[in-house]
Amino acid sequence: MAVSKSKPSTKPETYKNYIGGRWVKPLSGSSIENRNPADTRDLVGNFPASNAEDVSAAVSAAREAFPKWKAVPAPKRAELLFRWAQILVERKDAFATDMTREMGKVLKETGGDVQEAIDMTFYTAGEGRRLHGYTSPSELPDKFAMCVRQPLGVCALITPWNFPMAIPSWKMMPALICGNTVVIKPAEDTPLSTINLVKAAEAAGIPPGVINIVMGTGEEAGAALTQHPDVRLVSFTGSTDTGRIVAETTGRMGKICSLEMGGKNVIMVMEDADLDLAVEGAVWGAFGTSGQRCTASSRVVVHKRVYKKFVEKLAERTKTLVIGNGLKKNVEMGPVINEQALQKILSYIEIGKNIDGATLHLGGHRLDKGEHKNGFFVAPTIFTDVAPQMTIAQEEIFGPVLSIIPCRDLDEAIEIGNGVKYGLSSSIYTQDVNRAFHAMEAMNTGIFYVNSSTIGAEVHLPFGGTKATGNGHREGAMISSLDIFSEWKAIYVDYSGKLQKAQIDVFETPR
Ligand code: NAD
Repeated sequence: MAVSKSKPSTKPETYKNYIGGRWVKPLSGSSIENRNPADTRDLVGNFPASNAEDVSAAVSAAREAFPKWKAVPAPKRAELLFRWAQILVERKDAFATDMTREMGKVLKETGGDVQEAIDMTFYTAGEGRRLHGYTSPSELPDKFAMCVRQPLGVCALITPWNFPMAIPSWKMMPALICGNTVVIKPAEDTPLSTINLVKAAEAAGIPPGVINIVMGTGEEAGAALTQHPDVRLVSFTGSTDTGRIVAETTGRMGKICSLEMGGKNVIMVMEDADLDLAVEGAVWGAFGTSGQRCTASSRVVVHKRVYKKFVEKLAERTKTLVIGNGLKKNVEMGPVINEQALQKILSYIEIGKNIDGATLHLGGHRLDKGEHKNGFFVAPTIFTDVAPQMTIAQEEIFGPVLSIIPCRDLDEAIEIGNGVKYGLSSSIYTQDVNRAFHAMEAMNTGIFYVNSSTIGAEVHLPFGGTKATGNGHREGAMISSLDIFSEWKAIYVDYSGKLQKAQIDVFETPR
């Protein structure tokens, strides 16, 4: 992150790792300075740059805590989660403010991020009294068959910076309710929100060692955690490139691995759509969180009959967006996360203009004057006349850059929509129920919306994607989450008093 020479506006705090129930300095002795991306004069704090030794200490603490936590009856684990959720409710505003300061998205959105953690915590706590297995008939007489979920052991959770409390909660809550212990490595840019989540856990009485945080870089702390032999599962959310590194390591070491990765999501606008509604959805989907969401609507495919009108309305609405420091109540779009991200976004804009040959309709530059001068702001950018195979229409830009692609009909829209390597989220705007259902069936994405943007997942439905977005798992909805964080144990009870052999003994059906 580029650092201003000006005096910080607040006293910097030095944060520590949380290992075995204690806040401890990193053994590495190094730290990472984090500044507010909307105003780099504001130093959020210094955070540990942990090394492999720190990671090892955290994994040992988690391993030691595992047998005791596993032995706590799940409904009792759930009671702690209910208490934890309540503490999150009480601290929501403070946590949202910290999050806006550390990662830039506007207060309403960071409030939503904390709310998602609250929802996930309450929802998962309810699971403590279910965690259902099932019974099943045996093929042999006087034999009982059933299966139960078992915890895995130490789970490593590696998270990105764009949903710094919600995503840790999607992983932590199901891991804990199943009886696992965890070590979390939050993203370098947003450790404070994960610290806040864990401080709330501490206040709720989650026992020492059950949750541990090690902060630091992906290359050092993240890699050490992934490679640690005592880690049974790695649950990773982040870019597809990093996810594949994690998958290689975990595959080689025979660990369980769940991956949530990138997206290049599409909104399809048909000629019968409510255009004003579609424009609102596109603005929210493309420019909310400054386009830095895995589910961001970075492509809009529009029927040629309404293309011109849609572009006009979209540009007019986009021009009204208030861009600035998300701590101000009227601001609708904040900065991007850091200088490196900003440069990457600007380089995609250059590709769009000069190599792809798309038309730059709006924006396309850094905002660096007045209130934007100390932050990482990019003007909301709209490209028109985009062809589906252009780089800007294929790659995840992760910034406020929207490609608008014309189409002839629904079939072509679907083909364009599916014509990327990712498969996270898609949506259609139409008044025709037949077309909506046809698109729902045809879109190869993990999430699909009708008359809504590509954003808006709720915690109790499966979250994740196909193709390069994931490796077949889903977070969120309890059944799919529990399938990540537990293993099945099949149990047979033979009460016949004799040796019975499945598949070999022949059962004579009485006549
Ligand atoms: P990233 O891949 O750079 O980093 C994600 C995490 O991995 C960070 O904690 C990082 O420190 C760690 N990491 C980096 N290198 C590592 C390594 N070699 N070994 C282990 N860990 C390592 O991603 P990011 O920039 O933080 O987040 C943006 C990306 O995340 C985008 O691609 C976005 O689409 C994706 N994302 C996906 C979802 C989803 O649910 N599908 C949700 C949010 C974000």
